[in-house]
Amino acid sequence: MRLLLVEDDNHVAAALSAVLARHGFDVTHARSGEEALQALLPDTGAPFGVVLLDLGLPDQDGFEVCGRIRKRTATPVIMVTARSDVRSRIHGLNLGADDYVVKPYDTGELLARIHAVSRRTVPGETGPEDQETGADEPLRLGPVLVELPTRQVTVNGVPVPLTRKEFDLLALLAQRPGVVFRREQIISEVWRTSWEGTGRTLEVHIASLRSKLRMPALIETVRGVGYRLVAPAA
Ligand code: CA
Repeated sequence: MRLLLVEDDNHVAAALSAVLARHGFDVTHARSGEEALQALLPDTGAPFGVVLLDLGLPDQDGFEVCGRIRKRTATPVIMVTARSDVRSRIHGLNLGADDYVVKPYDTGELLARIHAVSRRTVPGETGPEDQETGADEPLRLGPVLVELPTRQVTVNGVPVPLTRKEFDLLALLAQRPGVVFRREQIISEVWRTSWEGTGRTLEVHIASLRSKLRMPALIETVRGVGYRLVAPAA
């Protein structure tokens, strides 16, 4: 997979490129926002599978670069940021970033996030719209079946009525079982709003889903981070 690494620090870029190359990525390094946008022009070869975007760039604000990348291509963008405050993360997700990691990050976590966002995109397809693969296929999680087109959820064949937000929340987690979703990411995607005041609402919806599905262990709390769906045995 081709990967565009946008990073102005040559030492960081060299170390990261070596790791990524070892994991089979074909890495192109851009040292500025302008270089990154140049690299993404359509006539520069095979499309990139993912962009790793450092927010602290010398020439342009990383958020602005993210917005411009999103206007140009549907390639997933993972923001790499030292700004750990919630507000800037939400801002980035609203600008179309697919995920973010906060420096200093664990390489294993970064690789997992790269694989997760690239799985969500159909190779070769581009465009501003979200692309979910197999959107018509029901999601099967042991006894739980989630049907996206009809918004039906059944447990062992018995329909479980969910509210609109409960369904959206379950569908989000169920599309990537095992992957940890950060609280602010869930809030941004399900409630389409910013963090303040919504944290408690999220907890209430999680509790309600666990209870309605009668499977308290289905959604696991990852302390201090968020939630993940644990796929049960069939
Ligand atoms: Ca930097």
